[in-house]
Amino acid sequence: MTATIIDGKAFADGLGQKIAGTIPAFEEQTGRRPGLAVVLVGTDPASEIYVRSKGRMARKLGMVSFEHVLPETTTQDELLALVARLNADDRVDGILVQLPLPKGLDSLAVIEAIDPGKDVDGLHPISAGRLASGLPGLVSCTPLGCIMLLEATLGSLAGRDAIVVGRSILVGKPMAQLLLARDCTVTIAHSRTSDLPAKVARAEIVVAAVGAAEMIRGAWIKPGATVIDIGTSRVERDGHRKLVGDVEFDAAATRAGAITPVPGGVGPMTIMTLMHNAVLAAHRRAGLPDPVIFERED
Ligand code: NAP
Repeated sequence: MTATIIDGKAFADGLGQKIAGTIPAFEEQTGRRPGLAVVLVGTDPASEIYVRSKGRMARKLGMVSFEHVLPETTTQDELLALVARLNADDRVDGILVQLPLPKGLDSLAVIEAIDPGKDVDGLHPISAGRLASGLPGLVSCTPLGCIMLLEATLGSLAGRDAIVVGRSILVGKPMAQLLLARDCTVTIAHSRTSDLPAKVARAEIVVAAVGAAEMIRGAWIKPGATVIDIGTSRVERDGHRKLVGDVEFDAAATRAGAITPVPGGVGPMTIMTLMHNAVLAAHRRAGLPDPVIFERED
């Protein structure tokens, strides 16, 4: 193996300390702590774990956590009424509705009902539009974590050739916008892209956001490239269930300059960038300057 392993867990821990460090001054200036509301509808076990860990992390960093667990039978109107109450609640700076919602509920309508100033998941069309227009806003958590890992690894990204494989609203599109905003030349690949291996082979930065186990082969990676693997798939290996990424890790690590592992790369960053967004939203809502939480070193 030649690549440097990008340790997302260690980076996220460091980010968490910086986030926690902003809270005493915020409390001194506003008389309250930042508040994050997390809404779970139904009993999906994975979503329950995510929601619990988000609440726990918010409290650990010194924020106030409001957790709303609603039954599977919740109607669209009831969910929208809760979002309206959270929008109006001054103690709440960030609102996260855990996705996916149970069948019959319209996620987009719920996301659109969230006050964009409290849209800590960065999924509101206004947040996406502000990102595309180069205006300050709240950025989708996973791509934000990836751009931090990239800048921490490479410094300035300006002028680099990047490819983002995947074009979802949640991950691929905001990722491409963030790279473009940092002056990368960005190729966006998707299921209809022709000759993906050749396009990946040209890129100095490869961001994989597909959700197909190891579909990006190690041999495609340009020597020295930086590889960020967002994908997560569970596969059966040697009689065990194992979590793997979109990139064929072992082979890619012999060619890449730096690479994120799965697990332990992008995953731990996603929860921490949610906390980052909650603290940012709190400062903006209070009319305070943005706290300095992440700065590129160059
Ligand atoms: P998604 O909505 O299913 O989007 C997948 C994207 O991959 C689509 O744009 C699709 O193209 C593209 N695609 C599918 N097959 C392809 C192929 N053969 N070649 C090139 N592109 C292909 O998934 P998502 O929500 O973006 O998530 C992607 C992955 O990231 C999933 O594994 C998810 O679990 C993971 N994820 C991880 C985190 C984390 O914190 N670690 C957070 C979020 C997501 P089309 O648009 O043409 O269909």
